[in-house]
Amino acid sequence: MSVTSDPLQPSVSAGSLRSALGAAVPVVAPEDDGYAAARAIQAGGVEHRPAAIVRPTDAPEVAAAVRFARDAGVEVSVRSGGHSVFGLGAADGSVALDLRGLDGVEIDVEGRTAWVGGGITAGAYSHAAGEHGLATPFGDTGGVGVGGITLGGGIGLLSRSLGMTIDSLLGAEVVTADGEVVRTDADHEPDLFWALRGGGGNFGVVTRFRFALHEVSQVVGGVLLMPATPESVAGVVAAADAAPPGLTVIVMVMPAPPMPMIPDQWHGRVVVMANACWSGPRDEADAALAPLRDVAARAGGALLDGLRPAPYASLLEGGPPGGPVVATGRSFFADGVDETAAAHLLEQLESCDAMMRAAQLRVLGGAVADVPADATAYPHRAARMVGNVAAVAPDAATALGYTPWVDALAGRLRQGDAAYVNFSLDGGEAAARAAYPGATWDRLRDVKRRYDPQNLFRGNVNVPPA
Ligand SMILES: Cc1cc2nc3c(=O)[nH]c(=O)nc-3n(C[C@H](O)[C@H](O)[C@H](O)COP(=O)(O)OP(=O)(O)OC[C@H]3O[C@@H](n4cnc5c(N)ncnc54)[C@H](O)[C@@H]3O)c2cc1C
Repeated sequence: MSVTSDPLQPSVSAGSLRSALGAAVPVVAPEDDGYAAARAIQAGGVEHRPAAIVRPTDAPEVAAAVRFARDAGVEVSVRSGGHSVFGLGAADGSVALDLRGLDGVEIDVEGRTAWVGGGITAGAYSHAAGEHGLATPFGDTGGVGVGGITLGGGIGLLSRSLGMTIDSLLGAEVVTADGEVVRTDADHEPDLFWALRGGGGNFGVVTRFRFALHEVSQVVGGVLLMPATPESVAGVVAAADAAPPGLTVIVMVMPAPPMPMIPDQWHGRVVVMANACWSGPRDEADAALAPLRDVAARAGGALLDGLRPAPYASLLEGGPPGGPVVATGRSFFADGVDETAAAHLLEQLESCDAMMRAAQLRVLGGAVADVPADATAYPHRAARMVGNVAAVAPDAATALGYTPWVDALAGRLRQGDAAYVNFSLDGGEAAARAAYPGATWDRLRDVKRRYDPQNLFRGNVNVPPA
């Protein structure tokens, strides 16, 4: 049977694809049982129908699928952790590569490096590394794929102490658009290596990543919850910005969820949740965290002080609750949040009627800012803060109704037009230009022309070939 649900894509014969790949490689087509489960991704409200879903387990199988799609003139989409918020890991009409079978981890404890499969989650790898008292920096959620977060940059709980994920990337094994398996690092295919560090999935399918590992076992971290006032919002961001680089703080401002550890009378009221991680010397933790606790004290006292010693990997275990909800959001960079902007933020969060709405403020600087802007394809090194505003709704149509609200609020908080690619909510040209301004755009387009001149890999925040 030939299938395509995207009129711009040629059709794909699942039979031919199976013959090309051999019986050992699972291929799930729309007429097969299990298709609905195979195409499911994390984002609610996204109903993409790939022409076929392939589940390779090594680079040669990925290469065979890429060659098939290239010869058929069909887009290749790539799914790793499945957390793309606009569902491009399983694009309409594409040959979708589900990399979850590429989940190997080889840790060289002495050499402080690891080779990891392109489909493993950040949490699974972090737990494996954590058994040796080692870590590579990822984000704040273990379920996110190493593939997507690394290729977009990677901002998380170790960013200020150890840098972004891409700053620990030492090399990669990549299947390029011509179906070749290449190794890249600073000395081999260096332009490709530069582009992979922030340029997203535009340049090939990464079947293995080679990471540096750092000595991080116990950190002091968790959540400090306090009443939201203009002073507490601006104060937490300022304290996080002034902190030593061993401390990274991700601030959520949102109505308190009805969780048992939060006092009942605060459920539904807007609060500040400072998600902190101190990875410096243990005996300096209290001093580093004191300014955050001072802000809470001035706001009337902490509603919950969950800052305590914990294995680093355990901090990645939280995540948004499951369920059929759909979010609309907008990301921005800023230097900080002053009390006037914080007052506006609180008014908006209090008056919006979305079932859940939130602003996330991630304080950058530290090791993120130590890397030159042109050293990787993430050029926003000088930004002090990356933020997100989001509204959650029960279905896509209702979520869409909140788009003007998120746009206006993010517009009020943003400084400049740039955006972090991993927080983009669509893959259009405006999103790509915001992620890759100026010389970064020109260099990425040139690398794209060399490695993917037909734009086979366009299920991403797309960089068209020069
Ligand atoms: C709940 C949640 C929490 C998040 N937290 C953070 C955070 O703390 N920090 C942060 O920086 N980001 C965060 N993000 C954003 C996240 O980094 C991106 O959504 C990322 O693209 C997800 O990667 P994935 O592999 O899970 O997604 P997928 O949907 O599987 O992949 C997304 C895209 O990445 C590309 N891709 C993935 N793997 C490969 C590969 N091996 N080879 C080639 N291309 C590949 C493809 O273009 C694919 O379409 C979060 C997202 C969510 C939903």
